[in-house]
Amino acid sequence: MNTFQAPRGTYDLIPPRSAVFLAVREAISAPLKNSGYGYVETPGFENVELFARGVGESTDIVSKEMYAFETKGGDQLALRPEGTASVLRAALEANLHKAGNLPVKLWYSGSYYRYEKPQAGRYRHFSQVGAEAIGAEDPALDAELIILADQAYRSLGLRDFRILLNSLGDKECRPVYREALQAFLRDLDLDEDTRRRVEINPLRVLDDKRSEVQKQLTGAPMLRDYLCDACKAYHEEVRALITAAGVAFEDDEKLVRGLDYYTRTTFEFVHGGLGSQSAVGGGGRYDGLSEMIGGPALPSVGWALGVDRTVLALEAEGVVLDIPAATSVYAVPLGEEARRVLFGVVTELRRAGVAADFSYGGKGLKGAMKNANRSGAPYALVAGERDLAEGVVQLKDMESGEQRSVPLETVVSELRAKLA
Ligand code: AMP
Repeated sequence: MNTFQAPRGTYDLIPPRSAVFLAVREAISAPLKNSGYGYVETPGFENVELFARGVGESTDIVSKEMYAFETKGGDQLALRPEGTASVLRAALEANLHKAGNLPVKLWYSGSYYRYEKPQAGRYRHFSQVGAEAIGAEDPALDAELIILADQAYRSLGLRDFRILLNSLGDKECRPVYREALQAFLRDLDLDEDTRRRVEINPLRVLDDKRSEVQKQLTGAPMLRDYLCDACKAYHEEVRALITAAGVAFEDDEKLVRGLDYYTRTTFEFVHGGLGSQSAVGGGGRYDGLSEMIGGPALPSVGWALGVDRTVLALEAEGVVLDIPAATSVYAVPLGEEARRVLFGVVTELRRAGVAADFSYGGKGLKGAMKNANRSGAPYALVAGERDLAEGVVQLKDMESGEQRSVPLETVVSELRAKLA
């Protein structure tokens, strides 16, 4: 084993691509910060019970993909496979729902862990930015979240994505549908695994990607025909609000999603350039989750957008984000005395808010200028013994190649003005 190799299914974010990840996280969170969502951060692991009860024992996420372990102290923990259960747990623990201003709106950004079969766009460690609006049943809230995700993707320049929308009904109508679906599925020719799924999570069978299963599903009862009047009206209102906002979506009555807690609104963002792992983000309403983990009734809605897949989607569309060079001024000292003086100038520049870097390691002019070029800095400062004797430094415009002497005393203010 190569000891420099990251574990299977994981990868490192390194410059320059890592800057794209930061920009994507920033772009996804910006519309949330602008819409009343406060930042929340929860631990990377939780009691395994939270996910077992929240996400659901019958889901692949909990039954197959969770990094669950026992600590030396005997606690049963799991690395978080998703964000919603943790965020809701944190809100309940802090009694945010009792502070009197529902919904509690929170956003988060972090690492998630699933023991999946690694492939392009599917990793064992991945990164999401998510949003949860806790404690209100209001179609405008569902619409808000869908509109904000659309805005986030568009602000990045993504165009080739679609929004799939469905309603999963509520605790009144879904059980009736579930039974009708089970009765239909029990008559099909299915493998043992799928038969088991029919009994514990029949809606997931609709989601089966295999064509031999899909073929048999023709004529299966559809949830749409079983929605109660309240769910129908709710869903129509969500659709109307999104439509009025000019956000295009497609009704997808087979959209179920892999987590047990969803009720009513569910949605997914899929991208055309990602092959089989086409979902860049998804979410929905989870009116029963709080009670499932032992809390009061708190109807809520949320989403999580995958940062890794959003970056892949940008690459697939050939979108290059406008990420400014990290360094504005690169200082190149020639000789001992110049090193001291220019290092002082760099420190001053940094304190003045100018992004500055320095040629370390006593490089010669040629090597140092190569590094200056590589840094992307629009300006270089070069100084040797003769410049210092005259009290000046050479200021080089890296784009035009033009170079001139600038008095040492004024170089910081001049650069500040140029870069403002
Ligand atoms: P989910 O919680 O499964 O609905 O996932 C929400 C989003 O997180 C997905 O649309 C993906 O963009 C991302 N995601 C989920 N699982 C993975 C994974 N194993 N690797 C990379 N991204 C993932």
